[in-house]
Amino acid sequence: MKSDVTYDLLIIGGGISACVFASKYLKNNISKKVGLIEIGRGLGGRSSTRISKKYKGWKLDHGSPNFNISNNKNNLLLKRYIDELLENKYIKKDDSEIFFLNENSNLEKIKKSEFSRGVNYLSLDSMSELSKKIIESNKSNEKIDFFFETLIVDMKFNDKEWLLTSKNGDKFKSKYLICATNLLLHKRSLKILNVDQIPLRKAIPIKNDKKIDLLLNFLGEQTFIPRLTFLIYTNQNYSYKDYYSKKQRYFYLKNNLEKKYRFERIIFQLQDNNKLGIVVHSKNAEFINSYINAKDEEVFKNKIITNFNKLFEQNSLIHKLTFDEKISIMKWRASQPSGLAVPLSLQFSKRYRIGFCGDWFEGDGFGRIEGSILSALILENKIKDSIK
Ligand SMILES: Cc1cc2nc3c(=O)[nH]c(=O)nc-3n(C[C@H](O)[C@H](O)[C@H](O)COP(=O)(O)OP(=O)(O)OC[C@H]3O[C@@H](n4cnc5c(N)ncnc54)[C@H](O)[C@@H]3O)c2cc1C
Repeated sequence: MKSDVTYDLLIIGGGISACVFASKYLKNNISKKVGLIEIGRGLGGRSSTRISKKYKGWKLDHGSPNFNISNNKNNLLLKRYIDELLENKYIKKDDSEIFFLNENSNLEKIKKSEFSRGVNYLSLDSMSELSKKIIESNKSNEKIDFFFETLIVDMKFNDKEWLLTSKNGDKFKSKYLICATNLLLHKRSLKILNVDQIPLRKAIPIKNDKKIDLLLNFLGEQTFIPRLTFLIYTNQNYSYKDYYSKKQRYFYLKNNLEKKYRFERIIFQLQDNNKLGIVVHSKNAEFINSYINAKDEEVFKNKIITNFNKLFEQNSLIHKLTFDEKISIMKWRASQPSGLAVPLSLQFSKRYRIGFCGDWFEGDGFGRIEGSILSALILENKIKDSIK
C-alpha cells in the first residue's frame, strides 16, 4: 500500500480540470483528505510547459499556448471563475497579434479558429504555472498528497471504497474517486496501459449502473486528434523583422496552406531572457506518419525548417531560420477529443461514488480548456452535497 490512509477523495489526473476541481472542492471541504495521482512529473497535462534540461533557459508551452472562452454570457459559473483568475492575476486578456495566413501566405487579422473565438486569455507565467497557481489558491496544495510519475492501471470498487493500483503495484484507497482524464474509460487504454479490459468497465460490470453504461457507450464513439508539436530553440540573435515585444504572436494557416506546409499554427514565444522560441503544431496525418517512420530524425527536422522558411519567404515580420537551430518534437497521441461529446448528466454516479471532468464533455468548450474548466466547476457543484 502506497499509504495506509483511506482518502476521502482521490483524483486521477493533474491537468487543468483536476486543478480547478481540487481547488474548488477543498475550499468548501477543508477537512477532507485528498490525494492526486498523475503520471507526469508535474501539473498541467495537455496545457503544460516544456522546461528543457538539455537547452537551458527555455520554457515553451508545448500543448495549449493560451485559451479562449467562446461564450460565457450564458454561464455565470464560468464567468465568475474567469473573473477570479483575472483578479488573482493568474491570467490576463491575451492581446497578442493573431494572423491568418491565406493562400498566398498573406496576413489577415480575422479570428477564425476554434482556438481564437471569443475572448483569449494568457497565463501570466507559463501554462504549467497556471495549473500550479490554481491548485495553490486557498493553499489547497498543502492539503493534498501528490503522487507524480504514478500511472493507474487498475481500479476496483468494493461497495465501500475504491482501490486503485498503479503500474508499479502501489495501491491507493479512497471513499470517492474523480477521473479528471478519460484514459481509464476509453478503449485506447487497452494498448496504452496494456490491459485486457477497459479499467472502469472491469470495475463496474455492464448493467450495474445505467449512467456508467451510457458514459462508456458515448466514449466508445469518441476519437482523438493526434498532433505533433515542434519546439524550435532559435539562435542567440534571432528576432522579428519589426519591433514586436509582446509575449506571444500567433500565425494560423488556412486550409490549403495547412495542406501544403503541413503546419496548423505557429506560435512565437518570447522568453524571459529575450530569446524567441517557436512552437509549431501539426495535425497532418501524412506528416505525423512520416515522422513516426522517419529513419533519420535530422532529415525530418530539416524538412520542418525548409517548410518554415518557404512559408515565411515573403513575410514582412518573420525571419528565416538557418538550419542550425535545435528542435525537439512532442508527439501527442490524443491532443483533443473529437466526435461524440459526453453529456454532462453522466458526470457523477452517486451509487459508485465516482465523478468525471475534462474537455471531453458536451458544450461550447468541447475539446478545449474552456470545456475542462467548466466541467470541473459543474462537477464540484454536483458533488459537494453528496460527499459527506
Ligand atoms: C498541442 C495542443 C494544442 C492545444 N491547443 C489548445 C488551444 O489553443 N486552446 C485550448 O483551449 N485548448 C487547446 N488544447 C486542448 C487543451 O490542452 C485541453 O483541452 C486541456 O488541457 C485538457 O485538460 P484536462 O485537464 O481536461 O485533461 P489533461 O490535460 O489531459 O489532464 C489529464 C491528466 O491525467 C493524466 N493521466 C491520464 N491517465 C492517467 C492514469 N491512468 N494515471 C495517472 N495519470 C493519468 C495525464 O497525464 C494528464 O496530465 C491543445 C492541446 C494540445 C495537446
